Amino acid sequence: MVGRGVLKGMWLVLREFLSTYPLGRMVLRVTGQPAGNRLVTVQYPDEKQQHAERFRYFPFLVYDQTPDNLRCVACKICEQECPPQCIHIVGPAKDEQGRPLKVHGRTYPVEFDIDTSICMSCRICVDVCPFDAIEMDNQYEMSSTERFGEMAFNKEKLLKSNEYFQQIKPTEASVVDQRLEAKKPKPAPTQPPTPPSAA
Ligand code: SF4
Ligand code: SF4
Repeated sequence: MVGRGVLKGMWLVLREFLSTYPLGRMVLRVTGQPAGNRLVTVQYPDEKQQHAERFRYFPFLVYDQTPDNLRCVACKICEQECPPQCIHIVGPAKDEQGRPLKVHGRTYPVEFDIDTSICMSCRICVDVCPFDAIEMDNQYEMSSTERFGEMAFNKEKLLKSNEYFQQIKPTEASVVDQRLEAKKPKPAPTQPPTPPSAA
């Protein structure tokens, strides 16, 4: 029949529409139609949906204990791999031989910026980081009317504690914690005291 497909499509749209309301679902059940348990519009911001742990938005930099103990060593791998090139890192100063200057035996980024107005939340920076220094946040309430001042995150704004990471993504953080623990140098086994030789 000509137009049958159109009518079928319209019925599907009507059924989906009805199933988003409690009364509509009741009508569908009474008429023997599948009503399902459809998503309904949440009255945001008064109501907020609980997101799955894997939900991600923009990256943040992880630190242990205190913000000056950030894990990032400014290797710049994430900067090179970020598809839209929205990461900007300034590494440490260099000595006369061109070697990066270290503090407490390691390097730190002097600047670390992410332009979140360009970031596409792909998570590639997290996957390529050899130091588990960058993770994906689930904070999404960050709208702004100011393009550069608010959306370009500098190092201070990007830094968040490992406790925060454990809180928002407990499963992933636990895997990372175990991996970092396994990488820690093990203390050398203590030698048993040598017995005194007989005279
Ligand atoms: S999530 Fe993707 S786009 Fe955003 S900073 Fe990381 S690599 Fe770049
Ligand atoms: S976040 Fe990771 S990959 Fe990016 S510069 Fe720091 S240590 Fe390197």
